[in-house]
Amino acid sequence: MKQRVKIVIRGAVQGVGFRPSVYRLAGELDIKGWIINSSQGVFIEAEANEEVLDSFLKRLDTDKPKNSFIQSFEHSVLDYYGYTDFEIRESSENGSKTALVLPDISTCPDCLGEILDPANRRYLYPFTNCTNCGPRFSIIKDLPYDRANTTMGEFEMCPECLAEYKNPADRRFHAEPTACPKCGPELFLLESTGKPIADRLDAMYQSVIYINEGKIIGLKGIGGFQLICDARSDLAVSELRKRKRRSEKPFALMFPNMETIKQECEVSPAEERLLLSVEAPIVLLKRKKNIKSIVSGETASGNPYYGIMLPYSPLHHLLMRELNIPIIATSGNISEEPICTDEYEVIEKLKGIADYYLVHNRKIQRHVDDSIARIAAGRQMILRRARGYAPLPVTVKGIKKPYLAFGPHLKNTIAVNKGDNVFISQHIGDLENIESINAFKKVTRDLQSFYEIKPEKIICDMHPDYISTKYAKELDKEVEQVQHHYAHILSCMAENNLECTDDVREILGVSWDGTGYGIDGTIWGSEFLQPKGKYFNRVAFLKPFMLPGGEKAICNVWRIGFALLYDIYGEKVFELKGIEFLNKTHEIELIKQMLDKRINSPLTTSMGRLFDGISSIIGIKNEANYEAQAAMELEFAADDCVTDEHYNYSILVKPDNSCIICWHEIIRGIIADMTAGVSKQIIAAKFHNSLAEIIIEISRKFKPKKVILSGGCFQNKYLLERAVNRLREEEFKVYWHQRVPTNDGGISLGQIKYSAYL
Ligand code: ZN
Ligand code: ZN
Ligand code: FE
Repeated sequence: MKQRVKIVIRGAVQGVGFRPSVYRLAGELDIKGWIINSSQGVFIEAEANEEVLDSFLKRLDTDKPKNSFIQSFEHSVLDYYGYTDFEIRESSENGSKTALVLPDISTCPDCLGEILDPANRRYLYPFTNCTNCGPRFSIIKDLPYDRANTTMGEFEMCPECLAEYKNPADRRFHAEPTACPKCGPELFLLESTGKPIADRLDAMYQSVIYINEGKIIGLKGIGGFQLICDARSDLAVSELRKRKRRSEKPFALMFPNMETIKQECEVSPAEERLLLSVEAPIVLLKRKKNIKSIVSGETASGNPYYGIMLPYSPLHHLLMRELNIPIIATSGNISEEPICTDEYEVIEKLKGIADYYLVHNRKIQRHVDDSIARIAAGRQMILRRARGYAPLPVTVKGIKKPYLAFGPHLKNTIAVNKGDNVFISQHIGDLENIESINAFKKVTRDLQSFYEIKPEKIICDMHPDYISTKYAKELDKEVEQVQHHYAHILSCMAENNLECTDDVREILGVSWDGTGYGIDGTIWGSEFLQPKGKYFNRVAFLKPFMLPGGEKAICNVWRIGFALLYDIYGEKVFELKGIEFLNKTHEIELIKQMLDKRINSPLTTSMGRLFDGISSIIGIKNEANYEAQAAMELEFAADDCVTDEHYNYSILVKPDNSCIICWHEIIRGIIADMTAGVSKQIIAAKFHNSLAEIIIEISRKFKPKKVILSGGCFQNKYLLERAVNRLREEEFKVYWHQRVPTNDGGISLGQIKYSAYL
């Protein structure tokens, strides 16, 4: 199938023969489209078959001119357009030029070569960088981007570094964070009390010894602290779990090289490209079956994926070369707080978690987590947008004035726009503790001052009790509120360059997630929406069910399971066989009373919670240790199952033509399968398939040309791929997220898109 790919490349790609080389490559591969230079980078649109585009994407990097260097490479798939030739378009420079703040860039091959070369003056120097690589966003205090405005300002360059810095022919010409062992930052190893016990390379070598002994090290990296330890050691990993009070949520891993990753995981060419990209995110990779993994079972138990990244800073490279084993590299924070960035504060904050701290004296100006990405439905999908991506802009046409969007409550990011450029902040986290809220406020100040934006209005969520909503209303600005699920759809439209048209039927948005405040005051989460600019039609959603205990049900998911069954079977629920949680006789009685009397049992149409409930009914998970765990394990249960079977469901059409999707029959079908001894794998797959069929049926009824899939549920690879394939079979055009998270991390972009309609 022919596709169009939009590519944005930033870095040293201008004035080095990059455009002619792309032109030649396009000619060779018979690719149609265009290339253009702008102050924002090089933009390319390319059309060809999928396989040809794959090799184009790869060769843009491998075949680039000698003096060019890519600092950021983002691409997304768009609708096929039908270009007839490939042209170099004239640069158009209209509108204000916005200086870009570059993200932190992984170590380039030249710098890596230097730190491994005994004859080089930067041999084994962990803070080596150049114009093409190194920290940026995490060290910038202010614009313009020059050394004095970074946290490197306090290091005076030695004569050799200064000579390189001033020499236009040198790779370090105006490399603001440049440094060497003589003049730059240094390493220190601290005891858990903060007492220094080693410095420079001794600190690194001693850390290697400690890691091999099973100790836990707090490592000051690029955008914050990571907690690292030997990933092979059950003892070390379970100790880390205990100390971090993180019982089951998977830990990210860092592997020494691609070869060792391939021993553990299936790696497709697209996944390999993502792992090796300059952005160097954590990539979710399918674990190989039937091998004895060298990684401890405590790392990601019950999860068929590992989140793996490759070394991306000189310090990581040096450590990994010495260690040559996979390590856990999880964020250095307490539960959902932002990662620690300061070696003084970390001693208190991570007290009792790390045995030692490997730190340095280059200050981190702002926290930037490791990003997370995966390949799903054949495309890249960013799940957490931070290091390597933030704060690069996404282009959204038609926004007249500058706005500031406060984002969602969980997985918060914020966004500002300057003209068509929307700058999405790095991942901030859940705004549920004072640390995150402070980080949120800091980032809002940060982005506004970077881009000198005085927003006309603040856009926030509709939930009256959210911290972000309350904060928005405290400020001396006009505030607009956007419904959460509509923001999801607008976010996906923004990234796919889609616009509302006069025909409201043109687009149908499927917005499925865990929680969002609905305009009727209930908790929504399974919405089918027709976008109409400032407004939308809510045309279908799940039959509402009760969440006994409200928030509590998100952890005790069996409560949801019971509420669903009780809704269907009433008192007869107790006659059902094989439902584990029905043994909780005393607790069940309390929940039953809550439901009967409707005490603290808010109504919801949340798809995420339906997943949770069903996960508990079929005995996969009764208690979730972190949000969406039960739902995710239901997805994993369906892993590798090949079946097209699905359960029956019914759709009730209301007088206003909107639809209520009833899940009763689905659950009756599940109970019948359980009684008949059908495997959990097949039940889970049939449940997922039923949801895809529901999307098809609602789409058939409302006849959109374009169907948009957004919301946290579409992180579920099985659901996303099934829905995409089925929609394509039925000849709908289908759109989902690529560069911006489908989860709540994408909400701030949707809120900015909303402002185009104000
Ligand atoms: Zn470099
Ligand atoms: Zn120097
Ligand atoms: Fe959401």
